[in-house]
Order: sequence, then structure tokens, then C-alpha cells
Amino acid sequence: MGQTINSIRGMHDILPADIGAWHLLEDTIRQTMPSYGYNEIRTPIVEKTDLFCRSIGEVTDIVEKEMYTFPDRNGDSLSLRPENTASCVRAGIEHGLLHNSIQKLWYMGPMFRHERPQKGRYRQFHQFGAEVFGVSGPSIEAELILLSARLWKSLGINDLLKLEINTLGDTEDRTRYRDGLVQYFERYKEDLDQESLSRLERNPLRILDSKNPNMQEMIEGAPSLIDMVSDGSRSHFDLLQEVLAKNGITYTLNSRLVRGLDYYSHTVFEWVSTALGAQGTACAGGRYDGLVPQLGGRPSPGAGWASGVERVLLLIEHARGKIHSPAPHAYLVVGGQKSNIAGALAIAERLHDDAHGFRLDTDCTGGSVKAQFKRADKSGAKIAIVIGEEEIAQDSVSIKFLREDKPQETVAVQDASSTLKALFGL
Ligand code: ATP
Ligand code: MG
Repeated sequence: MGQTINSIRGMHDILPADIGAWHLLEDTIRQTMPSYGYNEIRTPIVEKTDLFCRSIGEVTDIVEKEMYTFPDRNGDSLSLRPENTASCVRAGIEHGLLHNSIQKLWYMGPMFRHERPQKGRYRQFHQFGAEVFGVSGPSIEAELILLSARLWKSLGINDLLKLEINTLGDTEDRTRYRDGLVQYFERYKEDLDQESLSRLERNPLRILDSKNPNMQEMIEGAPSLIDMVSDGSRSHFDLLQEVLAKNGITYTLNSRLVRGLDYYSHTVFEWVSTALGAQGTACAGGRYDGLVPQLGGRPSPGAGWASGVERVLLLIEHARGKIHSPAPHAYLVVGGQKSNIAGALAIAERLHDDAHGFRLDTDCTGGSVKAQFKRADKSGAKIAIVIGEEEIAQDSVSIKFLREDKPQETVAVQDASSTLKALFGL
């Protein structure tokens, strides 16, 4: 036997035993997004590397350290997408979706970052997110937050998540703030760690994002952007808070929230949880008015958020325990000769035709009836449908109740679908 091959570190199979929670989350997203007028967009997993360098920013952890980048056969530099906002903007510009129109989009799919794998942090992970283009007031940021809050409620995890918000002001506010921050941290140059020292020169705001515990006291003492923003930026932020308060959304102001990407302005927010260990952020987003022109499009305001599927699934398990996929309604046991399988399959097909949503697991092994009933029991099905010579001859099926003390019934195939529909509420 050859050596076995395992999956790549940090990239995981999602096995049938775990798929129940994924389906629950995906179904909830598919229902909720259109109920707010958001349409799904699917973009390629691979893009030109330049797209992410120009959008996320050259001086970010993602672009500097985490991207899966490789040359295409013709020499072009390609990257597996580390996030999906840039791709949405690219697609919007490329297909003329953003000019003079409002777009409300959502997506879901795998993302890739070469990080150190740990609980809640993987190299292939999944995100779902929402992006809106063409709306500049704070109400759309509020709607995006309300939409996420509704998802948490539908999933039964709203008690586990807390909202933190901040404003990054406009470009001028940030330039002023940047200077103030540099002045402040210059005074502590001796105490800065290596990462923060390099950020001090290239992107001082990012120092506030540091996870180093030794840096926290210094960060606490740094000036706050909110104290420096213009009147216009402040009233934008005030209005957002007003809408949140009106809708019963509680939040805390976190003046250290800056987000790891370069493209944000005005509102930024995160949904955080103490139930996730060190990887506490389940969802993050904000406004990014500069991104569309930065990627070559005619200016169009943008705002959105992205949420980590695996982290949300941890919260669902925390709140609700394991979510199981539904068992089959019925297990088809083929009686008598092996050759009866053909006739049994033909009847099974008619049941599939007539009873929409009926979950029937057919035993195609041709094994002993005893072994088939063992598998029927293990399948979790409520009933076994038995089809042997007699049933085939009479065009009928026998229904045997596996979990209830009820006598076996034989029904004509043409009546079987209504019996099954009644039995399983289909
Ligand atoms: P973190 O601070 O945890 O590294 P981030 O700021 O890099 O997060 P974003 O780029 O804002 O994360 O991505 C949005 C969300 O995607 C995060 O809040 C998180 O839930 C999820 N996420 C990001 N990176 C990973 C990863 N490597 N594995 C699993 N989920 C992730
Ligand atoms: Mg990260």
C-alpha cells in the first residue's frame, strides 16, 4: 500500500457528521439576506495579486505575511483570496454595477490566509458577508449592523455576542490623528515591540491593533481619534448611534478599534464574544468610501462586513450543542431474491417522483434482510419500506415501523405517497 496523503495544515475537511450546523447557518443566511434586499454574488477564488495589494494595503499583515501567492503559468502573480470585499468591488467596477446605482450584495465562501492554525483560526476558512455600494449616510451602516444582529438572533447566539463600534473619521481626520499618534508613540520608542516599531513608520494606527499584552498600557494612554474628528464626521457617527439605540441594539464605544485593513473610514465595528477564546471577533466591518476609486472605479461609497463561519459555528455549538443533519425518513429494505433490487428501485423512483422532500435511503447491497434491517435501525429512519416479490407483483410497499409499536401496513404504490406525506408532514 502507498503512503496516505493528508490535507494541508490548517485546511480542514467538513465531514458529514458536522455538516448539520453548516447547513443551518447557510440556510439562515440564504433566507435572511434577500429579506433585506441583498443579492448574492459569487466571485472567483483566485484573483490577480495586485487587487489585494491595492485594496487591503501593502503594509498589512494579510498582504505582507498571510497571502497564498503564486505565479500563473504565464508568469502573472495570482493569489487565493484572503477576503472578499476587494473581489466584490472589482466585479462591481468590471460589470458596471456601481455607477449611479445602489447595490446590496452578499456572499459566502472559502478564504485563505497563511496564519498559525489554532482554534478559530485556519488557513482555509469561510466567510459570509454583506456589502453595499452607493449609499453614503450612516443609516446604511446601521442597516448592515441590524442585518447581522438579526442573523445572530435567528441562529440563537445573540446572547453570546457584543457589539463594539468606533469612528475612523474622514481622510483628513485620520491624517491629523496619525501625526498625533506618531508624536505619542515616539515618546515610548524604547518600549515598543518590533512589530509596533515598524508600524510606527509605516502605519501607526495599526499599533492600536497590537495583541501584545505588554503594549496594552501604552495603547490605553494613546490619544483617541474620536476626540479629534471634524463636526461632519462626528454627526455621522452620532446619527448611526441614534438609529442603533432606536432599534434596541446595545453597543460599546471602543476607541482602539481600528481594523486590520487600510480601506476603512468613518464607522468601524466588530461583534465580539468571550466564548471564542483568543479569537474573539466573529464579525467585523465598516465604511470604505475610498475603496472603489482606489481600484479604478468612479467614486461610489461602500460599506459592509464579513463574518467568520467557523467562529459563528463555535458559538452555535456553545449555545445549542451539536446540530445533527436530519436522518432519512425511511430506509428501503429489499426482500427475497437479489434480482428484486431492480423492481424495488423502480418503485423507489416513483416515491421520489410523488413525495417531494421525502428522504428515502435505499439498501442496494443485496445482502440478507437481517443485515438490511440492522442498517435500517442504524440509519435513524422512522420506518422501513420493505419491497420483495409479493410487493413487486402487487405494485405495493410494506411499511414497518422501526421506533413505534405499530402493526406493519401494506399500501398500493399509487397511495403510498399520500401515506408518507401524512406520516412525515411533507
Ligand atoms: P483576527 O483579528 O481574528 O485576525 P481579522 O481582523 O484578520 O481577524 P477580518 O479580515 O476582519 O479578520 O475578517 C473578518 C472575520 O473573518 C473575522 O472577524 C473572523 O471571524 C474571520 N477570520 C479572519 N481570519 C480568520 C482565520 N484565519 N480563520 C478563521 N476565521 C477567520
Ligand atoms: Mg487576522
